[in-house]
Amino acid sequence: MRTPFIAGNWKMNTDSQSAVELAKAVAAGSVDIAGKAVDVAVIPPFVYLQSVGQAVAGSGVALGSQDVYTESKGAFTGEISTSMLKDVGCEYVLCGHSERRHVIGETNELVNKKLSTALAAGLLPIFCVGELIEQRQGDKTEQVVTEQIKKGLAGVSAEDMEKVTLAYEPVWAIGTGLTATPDQAQQVHAFIRKLISELYNEQLAEKTRIQYGGSAKPGNAAELMGQPDVDGLLVGGASLKAEDFIGIINAAG
Ligand code: PEP
Repeated sequence: MRTPFIAGNWKMNTDSQSAVELAKAVAAGSVDIAGKAVDVAVIPPFVYLQSVGQAVAGSGVALGSQDVYTESKGAFTGEISTSMLKDVGCEYVLCGHSERRHVIGETNELVNKKLSTALAAGLLPIFCVGELIEQRQGDKTEQVVTEQIKKGLAGVSAEDMEKVTLAYEPVWAIGTGLTATPDQAQQVHAFIRKLISELYNEQLAEKTRIQYGGSAKPGNAAELMGQPDVDGLLVGGASLKAEDFIGIINAAG
């Protein structure tokens, strides 16, 4: 039985006051469910990790980071290390988000290094994969997702794989208002689970949580999560409004 997992990626949004207000509202609104029937995480910008971490401390809401660097310390201007993230209470870290792949230019190889670094430090990666619209139209979704998963998980042991959450995020559905239909999501999620079973084993594949991400909102959350292989949601825009995010958490419960 896989516990549903809802994570809110705030991207480059909020300020010092609204970040803490949002975090407190999410913690208060999900008090009966977060960390119990549903795992919940908020993923604010780096500069608000500490204050948001304090705002959700003691609630069932966990803290995540939007990125991490591959080195532990030193002359890497602008980057952030696993020990810094752990120091402020982070448990989760996004690896390979499509905006990092397609806006910043991260390769599968760099995503693999980040994911491996996070695992070695005891952080829990949320490993994002997904196809561009032209790749879907060219019937290349499975090929793209397979390459991202094989390269992203290179060298990751079965034991470590138990700590990884996958997030299928079709790039054409992120921040666009376009959502994959429940059938489209289920098809790719089932494909990913089969691939994990081939790369590792069936038991591990059955345990692995696969979130869907792409314009998830309270109105479509229950239907998406009603699919047998959709184990939660990675939420962008709708995680910035406490009411919407709590609605999604409740739909998961
Ligand atoms: C995301 O950033 O991971 C995401 C799914 O964004 P949105 O919900 O806004 O599409």
